[in-house]
Amino acid sequence: MILPKLRELKEAITAIFSRRYTTKFPAEPHEPAEGFRGKPVPDDKWCIGCEACSEVCPAGAIEIEDDRKNNKRIIRRLYDRCIYCGQCELECPQPKPGVVLTKEYDFADFTKDSMRCVQEFELITCGKCGCTVGTVDQLLATARRIGPALASAGPEMILVRQNEIGAPGPQVRRRKEDTRSDIMVFLCPSCRHKVYTTEAGK
Ligand code: SF4
Ligand code: SF4
Repeated sequence: MILPKLRELKEAITAIFSRRYTTKFPAEPHEPAEGFRGKPVPDDKWCIGCEACSEVCPAGAIEIEDDRKNNKRIIRRLYDRCIYCGQCELECPQPKPGVVLTKEYDFADFTKDSMRCVQEFELITCGKCGCTVGTVDQLLATARRIGPALASAGPEMILVRQNEIGAPGPQVRRRKEDTRSDIMVFLCPSCRHKVYTTEAGK
């Protein structure tokens, strides 16, 4: 019975003569420790708008909006929903993460607008059904990663690289019938399968 009390007394006396454990924030700035997970900030040099981070975000803090009429993908990072888990940075497929958790923690505000980060990407849609194929940056990153030999075997890769160097490429068309010329049009996997199988059956 007496031993625990003595232990508590020892702890109390040690605490009196030890340095303080808490910081003086907000009276004084606080420098977070190494590995601290703060505000996730996108890095436009590496982010390709692939939406992988949105799929792994457990808090639903990364919204993706595909404006297929205007070929635009909008990514909204909602800091008021973020739980700073770091999954977005961890699971980003780029060689360097397209979003990085910084040490910034003091950004609470009264308006939601200041708690948003908006990015915009050029979107490629299927030339037949109009569904999303991916962003231009995403296709270019894939083409670079797989190398010129493999990239030249995929029409989407050829087309996106043609567009990158400004070479005149085929225009996006929306037609019902599947013909040989549709091979060199941006297509989703399902429409590409239909075009190839229809062509093979002719
Ligand atoms: S590149 Fe990384 S940060 Fe950008 S959308 Fe894809 S997963 Fe998210
Ligand atoms: S840190 Fe976690 S909660 Fe915040 S945006 Fe990234 S994945 Fe979502």
